[in-house]
Amino acid sequence: MRSFAFEASPGRVVFGAGAIDHLPREVERLGASRALVLSTPQQAELASDLSIRLGERAVGIHPHAVMHVPVETARRAIEEAARLGADCVIAAGGGSTIGLAKAIALQSALPILAVPTTYAGSEMTPIYGLTEAGLKRTGKDARVLPKTVIYDPCLTLDLPLNMSITSGFNAIAHAAEALYAENANPITKLMAEEGIRAVAHGLPGVKANLRDLSSRSDCLYGAWLCGAVLGVSNMALHHKLCHVLGGTWNLPHAETHTVILPHVLAYNAAAAPDAMGRIERAMNTPNAVSAIFTLMQKLGAPTSLEEIGMQRADLARAASLVMELPYHNPTPVTYEGALALLDDAFMGLFTVPDRPKRQACID
Ligand code: NAD
Repeated sequence: MRSFAFEASPGRVVFGAGAIDHLPREVERLGASRALVLSTPQQAELASDLSIRLGERAVGIHPHAVMHVPVETARRAIEEAARLGADCVIAAGGGSTIGLAKAIALQSALPILAVPTTYAGSEMTPIYGLTEAGLKRTGKDARVLPKTVIYDPCLTLDLPLNMSITSGFNAIAHAAEALYAENANPITKLMAEEGIRAVAHGLPGVKANLRDLSSRSDCLYGAWLCGAVLGVSNMALHHKLCHVLGGTWNLPHAETHTVILPHVLAYNAAAAPDAMGRIERAMNTPNAVSAIFTLMQKLGAPTSLEEIGMQRADLARAASLVMELPYHNPTPVTYEGALALLDDAFMGLFTVPDRPKRQACID
């Protein structure tokens, strides 16, 4: 085994159906007594419920999170936290709400307690994003990593089917790229493989019955692991492409990750046999790429960039943008290669690379 460094994300995780009952205890454990509860307008009821559970430990709710954390939205939330004298922020929702909590923490160093209700995984990362004049910039700062995360699958039962499926593939994409990251190590690989296994196992059950608690638990547990490896691994072509497509053309986050995933896996398959072998083992299949695409089709996920709003005329510019900053990727990224990949993703077509025999997984 080669030598490696593993950085565990600090933080406490409380997992389980009904785990939200521990919210008051967990706020107290943070030494906080004046929590501000954040959500999107769509999840204001959840924010209000959490505030009621906290009683005097809550100073207010701020249900104004929106996608991609516009700086104006962040400024208003920071002002509200200061006005109310909040000593912790509770983010109840998906990546957009957790993103808003991160913007507050970046400015004020207030601790975040996250209550994730999607599979995006932001609660496990020190990565923040802020959007100004249509341009999203991201950064890393230890202050924005939540101190405590409460994963309660009961809070995910109302996540609509299309979002559940695409959010699940968003999680799988984090783990897939972690498997071939330049700083991958035996621990992150274990977590990534288990994360893929849990999400891929849970999604069909969610499709069959949105309120199936056991499948919801599998997906949320998997999303935790996938988010955890996202937080400590250097991402490659897949995340670069999705960042470009989301940032420049405003394509929807989870859908974009879903459509792009099998194409990047096909692009990298020959150069990342250990990663493919682990995905295959996790999904109990002889071919990682076709297994991901087949699962997408079976679950009714979007399979082409065209159907999620991309224009064919913009593909060449996207390929150029992907070439702008160098980053590690198992198969070297060329403009022609990126354009061909995008072209295939636009149409939802690709050739499945041969995987004649299951690769032995090393490390
Ligand atoms: P989201 O947070 O934008 O949520 C989408 C919608 O679904 C919102 O209206 C939300 O209120 C609603 N929703 C969420 N959970 C629900 C539930 N259980 N029931 C009913 N409705 C629910 O979507 P997302 O995909 O979780 O997050 C996407 C954002 O997160 C993007 O901006 C992305 O860049 C960011 N993100 C950041 C990181 C990071 O590490 N910084 C990681 C992943 C995603």
